[in-house]
Amino acid sequence: AGQFYLQVRVAGLGQGRVLVLAEDRTAARRVEEMRRDFVANVSHELKTPVGAIALLAETVEEGARDPALDPGFVSDYAGRIRKEARRLEVLVHEIIELTRLQEGDALEEPEEVDLDEVVAEALDRVRVEAEACQVELVSGGVPGLRVRGDAALITTAVRNLLDNAVRYSGPRSRVAVGTSLDERDDGLVRVAVVDQGVGISKDEQDRVFERFYRVDRARSRSTGGTGLGLSIVKHVAADHGGAVEVWSAPGRGSTFTLVLPRLRGRETGLLQGPAAG
Ligand code: ADP
Repeated sequence: AGQFYLQVRVAGLGQGRVLVLAEDRTAARRVEEMRRDFVANVSHELKTPVGAIALLAETVEEGARDPALDPGFVSDYAGRIRKEARRLEVLVHEIIELTRLQEGDALEEPEEVDLDEVVAEALDRVRVEAEACQVELVSGGVPGLRVRGDAALITTAVRNLLDNAVRYSGPRSRVAVGTSLDERDDGLVRVAVVDQGVGISKDEQDRVFERFYRVDRARSRSTGGTGLGLSIVKHVAADHGGAVEVWSAPGRGSTFTLVLPRLRGRETGLLQGPAAG
């Protein structure tokens, strides 16, 4: 693969074969395959809620013809339709976000980002869910750390990590989020989200960052998951010159850490140019 022979005829010299190395052609083909996979996955994922909505609506339609209709029936089905529609909404939103990140045009105008604000905002967005799951949220760490990038995207990444931590934990457990400087490289900041939930086995730890991959499909679905949360986190990290790390053990919980290049004090206002280490 990646090379082929070309039959050529040169005037006066006759015919021969030329070996053509086609490295870039293979790379292009791989990108094309990934794109095709993504489209196939997206279609598959969209079909589930759309199919459910159609089926639920049909049932209501049929039920409405029944003169002895229980009034609770319509409201029950309407609620289920609304839940599926919400799921579809989240899915479409995440697909658009991920596509934007993959095309690399999400980070056009980097700004100074205050991690305390990011964490506070992300916590606000998961508070209702945490209460519903009886999970206690705590935060701490080194205040005043900053990075260069897109505040909305980094907030989304931290929110996704917190959202997972809450959803894959049991009641009366605790989820903590903390900021720190990297121990070995103070040019890096770390935002860690720690839970005491179900955990992830070693084999699954790399795979969870793949698009649409879920360890437990039923649990992901019942808690409103799309299978895209962690791949969005991974892309946000990469687009900021950072990474996301996972530590986990089944039954003992998980720690997901977003590692990002730090923006130091003297760089204030100098937002053009590459991130300094
Ligand atoms: P989902 O929407 O399914 O949560 P994600 O991409 O956010 O999708 O995560 C992928 C899978 O990784 C999840 O389905 C779940 O199996 C696993 N996972 C993610 N975060 C955690 C966590 N904090 N604890 C246990 N499992 C997790």
